[in-house]
Amino acid sequence: MSLKVYNVLSRKKEEFIPLEEGKVKMYACGITASGDAHIGHAYQAIIFDVIKKYLEYIGYDVTYVRNYTDVDDKIIIKARELGVNPMDYANKTIKKTDEELSRLFVDKPTIESKATECISDMIFFIEKLIEKGHAYSTENGDVFFKVSSFSDYGKLSNRIVDDSLSGVRINIEPGKLDDKDFALWKNAKDDEIYWESPWGPGRPGWHIECSAMGMKYLGETIDIHGGGRDLIFPHHENEIAQSESLTGKMFSKYWLHNGLIKVNGQKMSKSLNNGILIEEVLDLYNPEVIRITLLENNYRSDMNIVDGIFEIYESKIYNIYKLFYLIDDLGKNLKSNKNSEDFKIIDSNFRKAMNNDFNTSVAISDIFEYVNTINKLIKENNIQRMVDIKYALVNIYKVLGLLGQEPNKVIEEIKNKYLKINNISEEKINNMIIKRQRYKEEKNWNEADKIRDELYSKRIIIKDGSKKTEWDIDIPFKQKNGNF
Ligand SMILES: [Zn+2]
Repeated sequence: MSLKVYNVLSRKKEEFIPLEEGKVKMYACGITASGDAHIGHAYQAIIFDVIKKYLEYIGYDVTYVRNYTDVDDKIIIKARELGVNPMDYANKTIKKTDEELSRLFVDKPTIESKATECISDMIFFIEKLIEKGHAYSTENGDVFFKVSSFSDYGKLSNRIVDDSLSGVRINIEPGKLDDKDFALWKNAKDDEIYWESPWGPGRPGWHIECSAMGMKYLGETIDIHGGGRDLIFPHHENEIAQSESLTGKMFSKYWLHNGLIKVNGQKMSKSLNNGILIEEVLDLYNPEVIRITLLENNYRSDMNIVDGIFEIYESKIYNIYKLFYLIDDLGKNLKSNKNSEDFKIIDSNFRKAMNNDFNTSVAISDIFEYVNTINKLIKENNIQRMVDIKYALVNIYKVLGLLGQEPNKVIEEIKNKYLKINNISEEKINNMIIKRQRYKEEKNWNEADKIRDELYSKRIIIKDGSKKTEWDIDIPFKQKNGNF
């Protein structure tokens, strides 16, 4: 089965055929360095990270370019508020975001470029657009793209450009001939940061940045252009207009857009103060918990983060790694069979899910089927198959950035988190278990039960085995059905 992707440009699922056999040129819009990155930024970065990793998994040589907008109005305003240099502020923000994305197991793109590293490419691009009659400069030193000069305008967002309003509205920007026209170059105001240009000192508009960088690193036509759904209009529409006006060629064959993040059903916004920063979730959860929660959603639909959702996946990740720990222990003298039947089945199921427009949701629900199988194999004492399934899961699901951590590390991390929350130590738990054992030997069931209940109030569950009593944490969520 071949890969099918939903192309926003054609509004249908299409077979993915790259421009050049075996190679994929992909561009995704990156982050504007105007503040701390939030979970919406993480969502987009994780999705395009998975798309890149999957394309590589099925054999493509992928060149993935992502930009950082390091000069724009918001950055300038923020830096002014803080009394710092805007470039220093942007660089500091980029460094912090890079570290956070790396903690989320998001690989670095092949090429990461800052807007300010490509100013001369953008100036050249704009000069060519003026030469071709697609852009004009004003007395103030601004340059605008002339939307009416590009007849395909609106093809991505499926908008019909309405000319009836032209010239009716009062233009806020002096020299702009039509409301729909957008800035390619902005003249520098007062003490703003600027670069020299044929139109005087100024800085590039936001849209031109992605067209210039995409073309610089990937060529005039690329295979995949990605970004959040909120970028379709005007950002991506404008990228198409300026790029295709310049070259006369299609800018990107496939346009892929991810859905947006909602928090308890509402859009994240400053006024609601419901934004979730990446650093906040990283402080609370293992990166895999964040990844699996976000990827369990289909990338094209909105992701609704409801209270308690991370705990559901935290519990699942915890249980998977406990199984992995057990398999490592039972199978320590066995070698994994890399060509096992289980590997073939897991790989084939994974490809089937992912070839259907990167359906990570199905790929993740498959994991829990394999967990069921492992639980059956434990009863059958079929250790070799357990070892083989674990090997397949670790090596296939690394495409989603899942299941590749050291089991003990994840188990300890989650366990310690809940011990800390419930203010109890391992030593205390072990002492209480010894005390309970003594009561049991004395047949003082009342006191023994009291200890069990006290531990349970701290969310510690004890299990009496034939040889010894073991304890575990009880992650605070209740799931109606399922295996966990
Ligand atoms: Zn962009």
